[in-house]
Amino acid sequence: MKKIVIIGSGPGGYYAALKLGKAGLDVTLVDKEYIGGTCLNIGCIPTKTLLDHLSLFEHFKSAREKKLFFCEDLSINQQGLKTFQSEVVGQLKHGLEKLFKNNKINFILGEARFIGNKKILVSTKEKDIELTSDEIIIATGSRPKTIPGFDFDTKLILSSSDVWNIPTIPKKLLVIGSGPIGIEFSRIFNALGSEVTVAEIMDTICPILDTELSLNLSRSLKRRNILLKTSVASKLLEKKNNSIVVEFLSTKNNKKETLEFNGVLVAVGRSPNTENLGLKKAGIETLPGGFIKINEFLESSVKNIWAIGDVTNYPQLAHTASYQARIVAENIMGKKKAFKGDLIPSCIFGYPEVAFVGKREQDLEKDTYQTGKFFFLASGKAKASGRTEGLIKVLIDTNTKKILGAHMIGAEVSNLIHEIVIAMQNNLTAEQVVNSIHAHPTYSEVLSEALESALKEAVHV
Ligand code: FAD
Repeated sequence: MKKIVIIGSGPGGYYAALKLGKAGLDVTLVDKEYIGGTCLNIGCIPTKTLLDHLSLFEHFKSAREKKLFFCEDLSINQQGLKTFQSEVVGQLKHGLEKLFKNNKINFILGEARFIGNKKILVSTKEKDIELTSDEIIIATGSRPKTIPGFDFDTKLILSSSDVWNIPTIPKKLLVIGSGPIGIEFSRIFNALGSEVTVAEIMDTICPILDTELSLNLSRSLKRRNILLKTSVASKLLEKKNNSIVVEFLSTKNNKKETLEFNGVLVAVGRSPNTENLGLKKAGIETLPGGFIKINEFLESSVKNIWAIGDVTNYPQLAHTASYQARIVAENIMGKKKAFKGDLIPSCIFGYPEVAFVGKREQDLEKDTYQTGKFFFLASGKAKASGRTEGLIKVLIDTNTKKILGAHMIGAEVSNLIHEIVIAMQNNLTAEQVVNSIHAHPTYSEVLSEALESALKEAVHV
């Protein structure tokens, strides 16, 4: 029976293990820290547990302001949230353990490294174990990066991994970096009572977004009293006992501003965990930045050694990892499936959510596309539920009317985006989507209306 070793049990590693285990292969899954990786333990799930409940809290407060509820002492129970969060993580971990057992996956808690081609040494607390394997999948994920001068100290200068262990919520928090992780933590700390400032070196907040969406997101954050500083380079001036002094240098006019904070969260991206894996011993090539060099089938420069998830040079998202895992598992089982990374949806959670896929307006050439927009404010469902912030914007090809991209900010857009992903994946035209009946009253109608608007067939204008 074919032997497989998978290094890393995040959404990439555990998905591959289950898929291969279910096919009856001999699978060993190794993780140095925990089952479920970054996503389950310190990433997607813990943040979404907080963001969903903090958004619910905001929704409740706004309903109270409208005198829809009488509830005088509405407040956040931080300890309660923490307990719930660890229960959720615990239950999901337990579920994975059961699945490993049922599918005869051999899980080892230990640090793995290559000691030769197809040979892995796993150091556990008790002993070293040597494994030989026919196929190896590298799924070791990533870790937070920092910028010069801001070395993580787990107290005042924090990474997204450290924030879970701080004893108190900082009164004034600086978040450096406005990508999805920076934005999500800004929302969390803002809702928990911190005065949050976000510093971004680029000209727009969350520069990966379509520019119009970025401006819309900025307005939404400002409405919640999150202070935004764009086009600034941050420099640490002084670290005191309980605070930190930071200078912001404008990249536009060289003006300087100095502010003091009780904590800094650096969220400027993540580096792949590849440098301690002994890749050279196995002859595995890497790209600049440490990413593993892979071909379209996700195979490394060494035959039968594969790489998936954050160690590959694709959007570092849990669903990238698990989708790649599916492809590698199928390729190990004899298929020749290629990975295409151009239709990976991205989301930012909390209210209003942000979701996007495909081309942004700034990526397209003039006159090659038509834009359609619909605002949540004009949606019956959004009005009825009191969640009227945001819009959906779609871009379609002028000639073919095929969808080129969609950019959404508003309620439930992390779910709505998948209609567009399916449409784009299957080359559907905007008409074909509009001709599929959307139920009323739903947020899905906002999407359908945006597509009608792109086709210049809008009714509600
Ligand atoms: P990981 O989940 O990082 O797992 C890698 C595993 O490998 C780890 O458990 C690690 O211990 C283990 N490992 C590393 N080196 C070794 C070694 N030498 N030997 C043995 N084991 C090793 N993505 C989303 O799609 N949606 C979200 O909402 C989202 N929110 C996020 C929020 C935060 C705060 C963060 C930090 C990330 C978030 N992400 C989100 C990104 C997502 O967590 C990652 O893209 C995803 O976890 C990557 O999966 P992976 O399998 O590649 O690696």
